Amino acid sequence: MTRIVYVNGAYKRYAEAAIHAEDRGFQFADAIYEVIEVRDGKLVDATQHLSRLNNSLAELAIPRPMSDAALRIIIARVIRLNAVRNGVVYMQVTRGAGPRDFALPPADTPPTLVVLARQLRAGMADERALEGIAVKTMPDPRWARCDIKTVMLLPAVLAKEEARKEGAREVWFLDPKGAITEGGSSNAWIVTDKGVLVTRQLDPSILPGVTRLTVLDVAKALGLNVEERPFNRSEALAAQEAFLTSATQTVMPIVKIDEKLVADGRPGAIAKRLRREFYRFAAFSGV
Ligand code: PMP
Repeated sequence: MTRIVYVNGAYKRYAEAAIHAEDRGFQFADAIYEVIEVRDGKLVDATQHLSRLNNSLAELAIPRPMSDAALRIIIARVIRLNAVRNGVVYMQVTRGAGPRDFALPPADTPPTLVVLARQLRAGMADERALEGIAVKTMPDPRWARCDIKTVMLLPAVLAKEEARKEGAREVWFLDPKGAITEGGSSNAWIVTDKGVLVTRQLDPSILPGVTRLTVLDVAKALGLNVEERPFNRSEALAAQEAFLTSATQTVMPIVKIDEKLVADGRPGAIAKRLRREFYRFAAFSGV
């Protein structure tokens, strides 16, 4: 349960935490966000998440609300006030509020900052990972700058809903050439029939996942053969394994793509190993 939310300098009760009616995040999705996992009371890979937050702001020329050190103090306080041991911190920065206008507001308009934290039932993702999940592929309807973590999530919301109706927890988006870009809220991976771990290279069609980076470190440390390149649906269907990565799910095995089983339809050995080893390589920081 979320009890207290930070909004623009104040710690508010959940039901009373509010932003301006003309906030640009609300009107234009003129905003970016980050999600950091909290595990055993510590932040996971926080430095990388804060660095991506700053990159997203810089790409959109939204002013930084404060230094990383100041933001970490707020994050720590929100985690403590909500008694989160295992869960997530969500933070959002918008270009601020003002009379609705496509033109950007004056440069000294203060950005809006919201930080909230939520306890999640520990072990939920672990249980899901025992079975693995299904994904559904569909053409990527999003814009050409998916490397920026904006709150413009409606295409992903609708695509995930379409997938969910067919029993798939995640969507895998296809670029115009038929290659898989990423998931609606995760990065996409396969282990080819030759045993090579493949994930798309960083380009503007995907978010540079923090979990993706850590998993690349794990894979290299384990001596796995890794290629960062596009892969298409038929290569994925012929793969030994498939999985996704994200801060809230770490490594989640995929056992079905478009209702077709991946290999024998059970979570693969490499995905399970990467999941097991993940936290040995992730960076923990105190709050
Ligand atoms: N791609 C998209 C579109 C996402 O929304 C996310 C989750 N934030 C990811 C990839 C995975 O990123 P991360 O590992 O940093 O959570």
